[in-house]
Amino acid sequence: MTSKAPPSSATPADAPSRGANRQPFTTLRDWLAHLASTGRLAVTRPDVGLAHELAAIAKVLDGQKATLFPKPGGHAVPVVSGLVSARHWIAEAMGVDHADMLPRFEHAAANPLPCTQVTSAPCQDVVETAPDLLRDLPIPTHNEHDSGPYITAGLIISKSPRTGRQNVAIVRLQVSGPRKLGALLLPRHTNLFFDMAEAEGKALPVAIVVGIDPLTLLASQAIAPLDQDELEIAGALQGRSLPVVKCRTSDIVVPAEAEIVLEGRIMPKVREPEGPFGEFPQYYGDRADRHVIEIDALTKRKDAIYHTIGGGGLEHLVLGGIPREATLLAHLKRTFPGVRDVHLSHGGVCRYHLYVKLAKRSEGEAKNVMMGAFAGHYDVKQVIVVDEDVDIHDPAQVEWAVATRFQADRDLLVVTESQGSKLDPSTRDGVGAKMGLDATRPLAAPEMKFKKIHVPGEDAVDVARDVDDAALPEWARKLGAG
Ligand code: MN
Repeated sequence: MTSKAPPSSATPADAPSRGANRQPFTTLRDWLAHLASTGRLAVTRPDVGLAHELAAIAKVLDGQKATLFPKPGGHAVPVVSGLVSARHWIAEAMGVDHADMLPRFEHAAANPLPCTQVTSAPCQDVVETAPDLLRDLPIPTHNEHDSGPYITAGLIISKSPRTGRQNVAIVRLQVSGPRKLGALLLPRHTNLFFDMAEAEGKALPVAIVVGIDPLTLLASQAIAPLDQDELEIAGALQGRSLPVVKCRTSDIVVPAEAEIVLEGRIMPKVREPEGPFGEFPQYYGDRADRHVIEIDALTKRKDAIYHTIGGGGLEHLVLGGIPREATLLAHLKRTFPGVRDVHLSHGGVCRYHLYVKLAKRSEGEAKNVMMGAFAGHYDVKQVIVVDEDVDIHDPAQVEWAVATRFQADRDLLVVTESQGSKLDPSTRDGVGAKMGLDATRPLAAPEMKFKKIHVPGEDAVDVARDVDDAALPEWARKLGAG
């Protein structure tokens, strides 16, 4: 660690540590070492195949352990996957308790820290301009019907042709040739910058950063305003000004401590086939003519590590989900001070289904909260609002609230024909319905009617004290002898 945690009202210094590191992790290597020292890094045999075999192993371990593949496909550069495939790992990387994770992210997004430019950087230890640059990287093929190898954990960094401010995003990048990538640019900031360049007949320079710390990965997914450089949010999350270095072939600056950087240009007036590719909703994104990136240079550390994210895996879902939760929570709290917490459920692909914990103050408020949530992000298609006694991170508890506090004729809100996710195959090209379920108790209900049962002392039981393992063999004998 090279930095101290910033002061934060959400994380008092005397908060119980729960064994977690209390300072943010700032490099990929520190984070991997931490996972290794806590039994959460699996190292495979060498020479695991890059086509499907690597992705299959990473998928089985996703959510339990990160996986490191030495010499994948005989390649000198190792691959890692599953760096942040559980949400509490992200809280740990931030150095906060799970309950403080969303406020911490929102605080960083609202208080970005400018980067510090350095002149020499580990990510430029080796500079290559060979004609077959991409062959130097161990790029895996993930799902069955993917068109081939994809760079899936590449932060694509570009500069606004108008303001010079940077943008960071992750886009799927198909290997289309020895120095050519196909890219799916959704209608967001990178695409906007490219449209400005293309209107003048120019290419848009980009850098693609592979192998970066978990907090910079997370910051890249922030729902930030145009011209907010997400690297400054990464700095705020890390509690330090992020060191960056200028690329060799453009003015773009990239995190100095990154493992691998590809420098290139999105080509004007060029579109070529890209896809299919296995996406977060657990379906394939289609094949169509999309943007093309020509690669000009590759820079890397001497002993670089390549990071891959399994398409549709937990790492993919969690990285997208947490910044959205933080944004939705802040958005709802502005209008509804009774909103305590939100969660985008795993079954709802960390995008579509939102659970909201509400300290309800007036009847009908839950429906207003639903409308606020639908307006907060067009991907949200189902909102379930529950009371404070429901754990929204436990889908069984949310279902219990719906089972016992919801009546469809009275508590259901349906909005037809609204904007949704184009990757949701049940929509008509992104047009679909919204559904809200009010599973809160009526304020006027007698207290006992909706009182959840509880055993006094159940929260204080110490199983290690109260269960006597030594007594088991004798009881097993007695019971067996009967
Ligand atoms: Mn942006």
